[in-house]
Amino acid sequence: MNNDISIAYFSMEIGLESAIPTYSGGLGVLAGDTLRSAADAGIAMAGITLLSRKGYFRQRLDEQGQQTEEPVHWPVDDYLLPAGVQAIVEIEDRRVRVHAWRYDIKGRSGHIVPVYLLDTNIDGNLDYDRTLTDYLYGGDDYYRLCQEVILGIGGIRILRALGHTSIKRYHMNEGHPSLLVFERMAELKQQRGDGRSNTEHIDTVRRECVFTTHTPVSAGHDRFPAALASRVLKQCNPFSDTADEVCPNNELNLTRLALDASYYINGVARKHRDTSRKLFEGYQIDFITNGVHAYTWASDAMRSLFDNKIPDWQEDNLGLRYAISIRYDDIWQAHQQAKHRLIEYVNKNCNVGMDQSVMTLGFARRATPYKRTTLIFTDIDRLRSIASHCGPLQIIFSGKAHPRDNDGKALIREIFRIKNILNTEIRIAYIPDYDMAIARLMIAGVDLWINTPLPPLEASGTSGMKAAINGVPSLSVLDGWWIEGCIEGVTGWAISNSEQATKTTPPVSNHEAEILYSKLENIIIPMYYHNRDAYVEIMRNAIAIYGSFFNTERMISQYVTKAYFR
Ligand SMILES: *Cc1c(COP(=O)(O)O)cnc(C)c1O
Repeated sequence: MNNDISIAYFSMEIGLESAIPTYSGGLGVLAGDTLRSAADAGIAMAGITLLSRKGYFRQRLDEQGQQTEEPVHWPVDDYLLPAGVQAIVEIEDRRVRVHAWRYDIKGRSGHIVPVYLLDTNIDGNLDYDRTLTDYLYGGDDYYRLCQEVILGIGGIRILRALGHTSIKRYHMNEGHPSLLVFERMAELKQQRGDGRSNTEHIDTVRRECVFTTHTPVSAGHDRFPAALASRVLKQCNPFSDTADEVCPNNELNLTRLALDASYYINGVARKHRDTSRKLFEGYQIDFITNGVHAYTWASDAMRSLFDNKIPDWQEDNLGLRYAISIRYDDIWQAHQQAKHRLIEYVNKNCNVGMDQSVMTLGFARRATPYKRTTLIFTDIDRLRSIASHCGPLQIIFSGKAHPRDNDGKALIREIFRIKNILNTEIRIAYIPDYDMAIARLMIAGVDLWINTPLPPLEASGTSGMKAAINGVPSLSVLDGWWIEGCIEGVTGWAISNSEQATKTTPPVSNHEAEILYSKLENIIIPMYYHNRDAYVEIMRNAIAIYGSFFNTERMISQYVTKAYFR
């Protein structure tokens, strides 16, 4: 076992493999890609997360697109090994036992980044406590806070039980794990005796902590009433001793805690840094733009094309810039293979009769209002007429709505309704139970990736980066990474809207829908059907310009120089 961990990476969710349901979406997939690139780079890092024994949920959709949720059943011991250690955390008056499972991420040269998945379903715990590591983002405030005690405080204790005593940096991916700050303070207090003040301890902790924020709206941050926090954390002295400072406004805000305790804070794209600076005034906030793990997200066909033409692209993603000299035909052929696999999957699983030769648009992400899943259907007659006079279209959707997001669920039903209206004119499929495997099929297999979030709510977005590595261009609202990425007409197309700042939501959406339609009608669809070389040149540019930059190999090296070893 590699005992020499210098960076501990804490995340409520980590996408390890498609079938291990310890992720719900972008945050978790990013965490997985980060650790995969850390393993490739040989960084002495470990990941800490919760087991999520029953997952986020399995999505079922009925004929009307009505979503129901079921627990996921997965054979934990087929994928994970017991780490062989236990720790105890105090919740209210209870002593809750935690043990850990281990998953090894193996880098390209064999270096291992272990991930520890915390589990409370063991003998000696009360029935309720045994459920605490079951559901990702399930349960009420109390359940969530208990989970965060397990993750932050239990996570550190498990690391100590494993013998990891010389960790230099604690990286909090989003605010969920920030209770680890109290545990570090408690450790310091114990090591140093009681002579020093909490302020001195927190100054030490601050030199160790790195915080990446992902959520550009205040409603998205975990906050708990001070009374609830005091009850749950009653045995945690660093909390009670500093309760007045850490609970301004009578609430414990885990994002504030992470901000206050970190010497390096970053947003996940340049624009998101600016948004975060407004949201959290008084903090120094930098940015490191997200990326994706290039090998993981390249389709099988693209992998072999790159292996062939750019032999060292896997060790050095910068090499993807040389895709600029791959022949159009080779790119097109590799794309056709990926498209074939997607169309086959969709026809088999969604019973829809899609056609390989028809231009295929893709949209997959969490179904929630700010993503504006249905923006493309703002004017169905317009879309119908575009498809009939510019060239045929088909559209593939996927994505789950959070169980309590009724507006998100309504969006899925709306797509099913429109799917029936458009019927054979524009074939539409909604692939149920979006996960990493479906994402990998979709981002490589469609011809155009659509993204229509309401700015500035897309902190970064990563699915468009995955598409780009596969030569699939984006037509996207200018938000998140796309502001840094888009070179109009060269790497893809922007749904830009200079007037948006002064107008309210509905007119903005209509205006953006108009841009989306007019670019499809006047530029993109005609190019796809009548100027194939021009289209493939854009595909190729996306690989060369984005694949070589918007990857987690570049991203982790920025974390190393700006945050970890500074
Ligand atoms: C990449 C990915 C996401 C994140 O996509 P965004 O474009 O950032 O919304 C969500 N879910 C899965 C399964 C993914 O693979």
